Amino acid sequence: MEVRRLGDSGLKVSETGLGCNNFGMRIGQDAAQIVVDAAIEAGITLFDTADMYGQGQSETMLGKALGARRQSVVVATKFGQPMGDAAHRQGASRRWIMQAVDESLARLGTDYIDLYQIHFPDPATPIDETLRALEDVVKAGKVRYIGNSNFTGWMIADADWTARDQRLTRFVSAQNGYSLLDRKAEQEVLPACTRFGLGFLPYFPLASGLLTGKYKRGEPPAQDTRMAAWGERAARALNDQNFDKVEALSAYAEARGRTLLDLAFAWLLGHPQVSSVIAGATRAEQIGGNVKASTWRLTSQEMTEIDALAA
Ligand code: NAP
Repeated sequence: MEVRRLGDSGLKVSETGLGCNNFGMRIGQDAAQIVVDAAIEAGITLFDTADMYGQGQSETMLGKALGARRQSVVVATKFGQPMGDAAHRQGASRRWIMQAVDESLARLGTDYIDLYQIHFPDPATPIDETLRALEDVVKAGKVRYIGNSNFTGWMIADADWTARDQRLTRFVSAQNGYSLLDRKAEQEVLPACTRFGLGFLPYFPLASGLLTGKYKRGEPPAQDTRMAAWGERAARALNDQNFDKVEALSAYAEARGRTLLDLAFAWLLGHPQVSSVIAGATRAEQIGGNVKASTWRLTSQEMTEIDALAA
């Protein structure tokens, strides 16, 4: 497994990571253990979770599954989404960050978080307050690096300038939705990552499984898949426009002896800002496919051809 730097930082992460939002939502502790074991066996070192996934269950399950191996991996989690009904248990205020970090540490069963990410921008808290609170949790040794998620380009710029101006710890990563079927991040966020030296962690990299090729036009999703679990909501993703692209991209990959899954990973990793593809997985076999997929290196001409097919 190849590793990449997370932006300009010294933190290195495996090119294929593991997104853990299925833990506590789609799968239980036993299945999570199998997935984490398979990931570590395959050389994955980046595990991405959040406090709100399963209202703490994902962090708890990840911590248990890692056990004594925690020191040899990179644990990324997030804060800011509502944790219960109390109004103050969300957002990016100093008050909540100080409490949220301790709660995440307890659930993860660790005394440090490698990458602590603000899950969504908090318009009700000045970025100075958030960065100063994050500086304090870094100084306290509870957190090693900080990142943002779902920020726009100007928010990334604003946070970077604020941190530099006030000599605070800077964000080293940005996490936003990005895949061959969702390219909004190209407008502002990827250029901002380049300019400010942030590593980019695309979420929904497989468009929730659509880019694995397992969903077919006109056929209901197979049992035990995310789209089957989504019910009505799946119709939004399983639309003709997406299937037109999926079919064209599958044909392109197959003509080169590869799969759509390989293409989805290779295209993301073809962007220099991308540090790791944190795909979710519910089974050990998926880990094998995702790790193998990260080995295909596309030429710049292939990147251009694929861009056109997915436009
Ligand atoms: P994804 O990676 O696009 O899709 C993952 C799903 O695709 C899996 O649950 C599995 O679905 C299927 N899959 C994965 N590998 C497969 C393979 N090799 N063959 C067949 N199917 C495969 O979406 P995601 O997991 O939601 O997103 C990745 C991570 O990003 C999350 O886990 C989370 O850590 C993070 N995330 C962050 C945010 C944010 O706001 N920052 C938002 C969403 C997600 P089945 O259930 O069908 O097995």
